Amino acid sequence: MQISTGLHRIECPIGPRYVAIYAIVGKKHTLLIDTGFDESIRTTVASYFKENKLSLDSVRYVINTHSDYDHTGGNKAVRELMPNALICAGERDRAMIESLNSMFYDRYNEFEKDHGFAESMEAKDFMMSVAFESNVDIGFAGNERIDLGGRYVEILHTPGHSWGHISVLDESSKAVIIGDAVLGNSVLLADGQPAFPPTYRFVEAYRSTIRLLKGYNPSEILTSHYPRYSGQAAIDFLDLSLNYTDLIEQICLETIAKSAKPITMMELIELTHLRMGPWDNPAYKYLAYPVLGHLEVLESYKKIKSSKNGNGLTQYQLIK
Ligand SMILES: [Zn+2]
Repeated sequence: MQISTGLHRIECPIGPRYVAIYAIVGKKHTLLIDTGFDESIRTTVASYFKENKLSLDSVRYVINTHSDYDHTGGNKAVRELMPNALICAGERDRAMIESLNSMFYDRYNEFEKDHGFAESMEAKDFMMSVAFESNVDIGFAGNERIDLGGRYVEILHTPGHSWGHISVLDESSKAVIIGDAVLGNSVLLADGQPAFPPTYRFVEAYRSTIRLLKGYNPSEILTSHYPRYSGQAAIDFLDLSLNYTDLIEQICLETIAKSAKPITMMELIELTHLRMGPWDNPAYKYLAYPVLGHLEVLESYKKIKSSKNGNGLTQYQLIK
């Protein structure tokens, strides 16, 4: 759909969810935000371009908002179908975007060794069947401005979900396309029902990102997995997301304070997930992302301390 002149939202199915890919069309160049799965570019985006008389040859900049395979999986297809495209990403996410293997072991499986929460090899096989990597041409730090021909966009560094996460401010509409930079109180299925927890990981950065985006007073917040949020709804979504981080941190601290003995992250999640959201098993286990982030914050503020249990897993207790 065309949201406003030259700003398009293309919803691409990824199983029971969708990833929204955005195109911003200037007089000279088109900029594409995220590449979904391989199929998303080859099928959904290619036919959308055809139907709307947009040119694949005009695509000059392709932004990966961050290092998740539902946002980078179409990079190889971009190389094949968009001959003039430069693939761009936040510099700090480059290594994981260029190597799906690194994305899997360093991002999705980071909880295995110290916290006993491992991704399955089926999950890896699935990722490898829908996503194909490519190198990144330009690494952004944030605050770059791009001229699309009579139309400018600005790159914002919006870390939290990943360290290198970037968002795009469309100067003419004042809409900000944020990928997964802010995640409400649940990631959603295509029908709007909760899918799994908001997988922000670096809590203080995430909170700063939410405040930064609020400061831009955007006309719209355009995400990858949520409906459009315009005007006050955009501010409400940002506030909801920020309040959720306070709730989770409070539950973590209370639970550790009440526990008679040190507890591991997954024990904490088993005890508290019903207070954190409505997800089924195993979806709620992805609370590992925000909960570990909050445990790191609480530890850095010397409210809790960590040690190793007999199985080599990290456990947490209150500092009295
Ligand atoms: Zn995503």
